Amino acid sequence: MEMSDWAKGLPLRAGENFLGLYQPSPETAEYWEGVTRHEFLIKRCRSCAKLHHPRRILCSACGEPGMDWVRASGRGTVYSFSEIHRTTGIFSPATPYVVGIVALEEGVHIFTRFLPEEGAADKDNSSIRIGSAVSVEFQVLEQGMLLPVFRVGGE
Ligand SMILES: [Zn+2]
Repeated sequence: MEMSDWAKGLPLRAGENFLGLYQPSPETAEYWEGVTRHEFLIKRCRSCAKLHHPRRILCSACGEPGMDWVRASGRGTVYSFSEIHRTTGIFSPATPYVVGIVALEEGVHIFTRFLPEEGAADKDNSSIRIGSAVSVEFQVLEQGMLLPVFRVGGE
C-alpha cells in the first residue's frame, strides 16, 4: 500500500539525524516561538474564551476560527503515560523514558515527555503516576530541539 505524501511527514534536519515527525505549520509557529522564550502557549477562542490545544484552528465550543495565544501556567497532572523500553536510533540511549498526555490546569490535554521528580535515581521513573502533579521545563532532547517536557513536582 502506498502512503500519500502528507502521511510520510517532512524530513527535518536535526544535527546528524533526519526525522519525519516534526512539522511546524502556520497554525503552530507562534507556539514554537514561545518555546524558544521558555513560554508554554495555548490558544484561546476570541469569541467565547475557551482554551485549546496549540494546533486547534476552530473553536470546539462556538465554531469560530479566531484564536489568540495565551501563556499557560505550565502546571498540570499526568493524564496517561507509557514507559518506553524498546525503540530505535537516537532514542535508544534514553530508554526507559516516559511519554504521555498531560492535563494542563487550564483543561487542555497535550502529548509530552514526562520526567521523574528531581533527585530521582537514574532511569527511575517510578514517581510518574496517573494524577502526579507536574510542571513544564524546557530541554534539548535527542532530536536536538528545544522542547517542553513535564517533570513531576518542580517549580
Ligand atoms: Zn469559542
